[in-house]
Amino acid sequence: MKPYRSHYSKDVTTEDHGKTITVAGWVEDIRNIGSIAFIILRDKKGTLQVTALKKECLELFEKLINIPRESVIAVNGLCKKSDKARNDYEVIPKEVEVLSISETPLPLGVVDKVESELDTRLDNRFIDLRKQDIQAIFKIRNKVIAAVHEYLRSENFFEVHTPNIIASSSEGGTEVFKLKYFEKSAFLAQSPQLYKQMLMATGLDRVYEIAWYFRAEEHNTRRHLNESTAVDLEMAFINSEEDVMKILEGLVYSMWKRADECNEELDILGKKVVVPTLPFKRVIYDDVIKKLNKKGSEIKWGEDLGSEEEKLLGDIMKKEGHDFYFITKYPIEAKPFYTMPEKDKYSRGFDLECKGVEIASGSQRIHNVELLKKRINACNLNSKDFESYLKAFRYGMPPHGGFGFGIERFLMELLDIKNIRECILFPRDRTRLTP
Ligand code: ATP
Ligand code: MG
Repeated sequence: MKPYRSHYSKDVTTEDHGKTITVAGWVEDIRNIGSIAFIILRDKKGTLQVTALKKECLELFEKLINIPRESVIAVNGLCKKSDKARNDYEVIPKEVEVLSISETPLPLGVVDKVESELDTRLDNRFIDLRKQDIQAIFKIRNKVIAAVHEYLRSENFFEVHTPNIIASSSEGGTEVFKLKYFEKSAFLAQSPQLYKQMLMATGLDRVYEIAWYFRAEEHNTRRHLNESTAVDLEMAFINSEEDVMKILEGLVYSMWKRADECNEELDILGKKVVVPTLPFKRVIYDDVIKKLNKKGSEIKWGEDLGSEEEKLLGDIMKKEGHDFYFITKYPIEAKPFYTMPEKDKYSRGFDLECKGVEIASGSQRIHNVELLKKRINACNLNSKDFESYLKAFRYGMPPHGGFGFGIERFLMELLDIKNIRECILFPRDRTRLTP
C-alpha cells in the first residue's frame, strides 16, 4: 500500500465522501458484533471508524478482528458518509496492511477509564503519550514555544545556543552535576547564565535561548525537576531591571494568549485559560515581608521566600486581585553573585510569581568587573573559577540584565497541573533516570 496515509482522521471532508482514501494509525478498539466489526483507528489528529462487514469481505473481517489492540495498521478503503460514525464518515476497507503487531497485555491502557499511577505512566511514557489529554499538554507546549520565538524575534532578540558542558558552575552553589571530561572534571550547566552575559560583550545586544537547566537538587518536590527547560534571555543597554521586566511580562502575556487560542486542546483537557492583563503588579520585597508577617509568617528580612511563604503571598495577592506579580528589590544576599546591588543591602533582582509559585527570576547584572569580583568573593566563591567569564567584562561590557523563565513551571500554572513531571516528556527526578 502506497502511501500509507492519504488523510488524517480529522482532515477528511464531505468532498472525500464516496472516494477511496488511505488512513493509518493505532488500533484503539475493536467491537465485533458478529456480522459487522467496528475498528477505531487513532492517529495524531484524532480517531476514525473502520467498518467491516463479514459477508462482504470475510478475509479482511477475520484479519481485522484478530489484530491486537494498539497494533499499527494502514487501511485503504471507501470513505462513506455515516451519521452514526464519529466525524460523520466511516472507512469500508478494501485492503489492510498490518505494519506492527502490539504485544499483549499492554503495560498501560490508552482509553481505560481507571487512572494509572503516575509512575506506571512515566515508566510507559510512549503509551501514556498516546492519550489525547496527555498529548494536548505537549501540543499546547509546542504552540506556546512558537509564540516565544515570535514575540522575542519581534522584539529584536537573537536566538543562541550555549554550552551545556561547562568548567565552573553557572550560579555558584552546590546543586551541580559533576562529570568527567577527559582528564578534567566539568559540570552540566545549571543555566546559560555566564554565556549569555558574555554575549553582551559582543554587540549582539539581545539574545535568548530555550535552555536546558541541569540541577542536582536532592529534594523531590512537585515543582522541581533535575533537568528542566527555560526561556533564558539577556539584553544590553538597559537603564534598570524595569526594562527586563517589561519584556518578561510581554512574553508571559503572548504565551498565555497563544495558549488561549488552543481551543481543541483546552477542550480535551477541560481547561480554561484566563489571559492576564498588563502591566503585572510590582511589589517590593520589604512590603512582601510586611504582608507575610501581618498574616502570621515568621519570615525575617533578608530570607528568600520558601514554598510556604510563596503560597501565603499568593493567597494575599489573589485577594488584592493579582494572579501575577513581581517581587522586586530583593536583598542582595538572597540573590546570585552577578546581581546588581542597590543602595544599602538591596539589589536589582526580581522574581515573577504566578498564583504563589515562582515562574521566573531576573535582574540587572553587574557589568563592572571589580564589583563583580567583590561579589564573587562575598558569596564565598573563587574568582579563579570564573576567569574566562570575568575576562569578557574587561574589554567593554555594557549595562545589561535578563531572566530565566521555567517552561514546565509555566505549563503547570497555565493548565493547573499539580505535578511538574506531567509537563516534560521524559522527566528526570531524584529517582528517575529512565526512560
Ligand atoms: P526555586 O526557588 O523555585 O527552586 P530557583 O530560584 O532556584 O527556583 P532560578 O535559578 O531562579 O530558580 O531559575 C529560573 C526559573 O527556572 C525558576 O523561576 C523556575 O521557573 C525555573 N526552574 C528553576 N529550577 C527549576 C527546577 N529544578 N525545576 C523546574 N523548574 C526550575
Ligand atoms: Mg529564582
